[in-house]
Amino acid sequence: MPVTAALEHFTVPVQVIIDAAPSGMMLVNQEGSIVMVNQLLAQQFGYLKKELVGQPIEVLIPERFRSNHPAHRMGFFVAPEPRPMGRGRDLYGQRKDGTEFPVEIGLNPLTIHDTIYVFASLLDITEKKREEQHIAALSHRLLLATKSAHMGIWEWDVTQNILMWDSQMYALYGLPPESKSEPYSLWVNALHPDDREAAEGALQLALQGKQKFNTEFRVIWPDGSFHYIRGAGLVDRDTQGANLRMIGVNWDITAEKTAEDILRTYTGELERSNQELDDFAYITSHDLKEPLRGIYNYSTILLEDHAQDLNDDGRVRCETLCRLSRRMEELLDALLYFSRTGRTDLALQVTDLDVVLGGILETLDLSLKEHRVFLKVSQTFPKVYCDAVRIGEIFRNLITNAMKYNDKEEKWIEVGYHYGLKKDLSDSESLTDPVVFYVKDNGIGIKEKYYQGIFRIFKRLHGRDKFGGGTGMGLTITKKLVERHGGQLWVESTFGEGTTFFFTLHRNSKNAEHTESTDSVG
Ligand code: ADP
Repeated sequence: MPVTAALEHFTVPVQVIIDAAPSGMMLVNQEGSIVMVNQLLAQQFGYLKKELVGQPIEVLIPERFRSNHPAHRMGFFVAPEPRPMGRGRDLYGQRKDGTEFPVEIGLNPLTIHDTIYVFASLLDITEKKREEQHIAALSHRLLLATKSAHMGIWEWDVTQNILMWDSQMYALYGLPPESKSEPYSLWVNALHPDDREAAEGALQLALQGKQKFNTEFRVIWPDGSFHYIRGAGLVDRDTQGANLRMIGVNWDITAEKTAEDILRTYTGELERSNQELDDFAYITSHDLKEPLRGIYNYSTILLEDHAQDLNDDGRVRCETLCRLSRRMEELLDALLYFSRTGRTDLALQVTDLDVVLGGILETLDLSLKEHRVFLKVSQTFPKVYCDAVRIGEIFRNLITNAMKYNDKEEKWIEVGYHYGLKKDLSDSESLTDPVVFYVKDNGIGIKEKYYQGIFRIFKRLHGRDKFGGGTGMGLTITKKLVERHGGQLWVESTFGEGTTFFFTLHRNSKNAEHTESTDSVG
């Protein structure tokens, strides 16, 4: 039947209806001529409707597919039935300007007056394809990421209680991927009996929305070996809040756990041996004081009551004995004090260092005047989480040293602080940044080779009585106090020009408490 004759059988409403359809539509006869198109289809291909009617259908097909098309078309008319076109192949349309776009086509036979036509509906799937490619790229990236992190992915259909594992999951449980049992029972059976309840409980709590699923557990491989796994997952819910599924990951943390265990053992041993050293220092210094006092007392009695029995040389030696035993007592007192700093608990609390420093400066005021030292504190000091008395001692020791070890005409000391270890972060507001305090002087300075040595017990760089004397314990105690607060103490200096001691403290308990978790918090 000629094209125009077929058209006569359509009334205007049919054209109107198909023009309103949301997909492109056309009617094609057995010869492959376009009998009718809707508005959308003409638009999709960049034609006017009237330009397409009567044209061979091949004008809408890219050149490279045209030669095969008549055979496909005839194949349809041999067994006409509704079906999608080009099963398993990507289909493309060609616009009037020659550009191509991906399409999906549905074919339906339509008999009009004993003549079969094909009624085709066509969707432009450019957007869909783009999304598919995007998703494929994302999945590829995800796969690469999980593979390189040796992560296994699991998906649990909560409604049907079906758990699916990817191949890496099986590897994490030491199982071949073709393992027979259903993954949920594989998981539960592999869990270490001591961890089973907690792991399943964590999963249930996540399903109840009470906490995130992010937990660790041990699994036992078929060969009997233990492995630590961290499991994390998210619950997918419908709009009513009912659980649909959980998707998550597992990864092996055995290496970290082993390293943690070793570290914990070493730290424990170190703490124990430090404690023993403190105890030893305490006991020896305490016990040594007793006989020392005896030596001092007897030499004093010798000098006072028996001076006439001694010649000049004997008296001088007796005086030296007194002086040395006093010195020995000073050293033992310092040692005793040092061992106490390791033994007693810190009274940690949020402390206003303005108040602490103010108190220390008041007690040092007279000494500063005597030494004619100008002390500058130009900042308001912050609040930090610390033991006020101990931090006061730190400032006192450093300021006293800065005052002592200065031979300049015009002596000055500056006390200040900044946030963060890099000085340029002076305005950092992050609470995790430590506060860096400093005590700076224009004194004699320290040679770089002594930067470490000065913190050693009894280490002095000068003769016994030079610069007002000392025990060589001040910096050792200061360092210990700073470290007990979880901070660090270090020195920078230019020999002959001056020295700066820095120490850090944490502003909040969170960063400080790991060092002093057992201390009383006042
Ligand atoms: P002490 O002051 O009792 O000798 P410290 O442990 O406080 O003991 O100090 C150890 C040594 O470090 C001091 O003997 C001194 O040589 C050196 N030192 C400490 N502070 C300063 C400073 N601000 N400037 C120069 N040298 C210093």
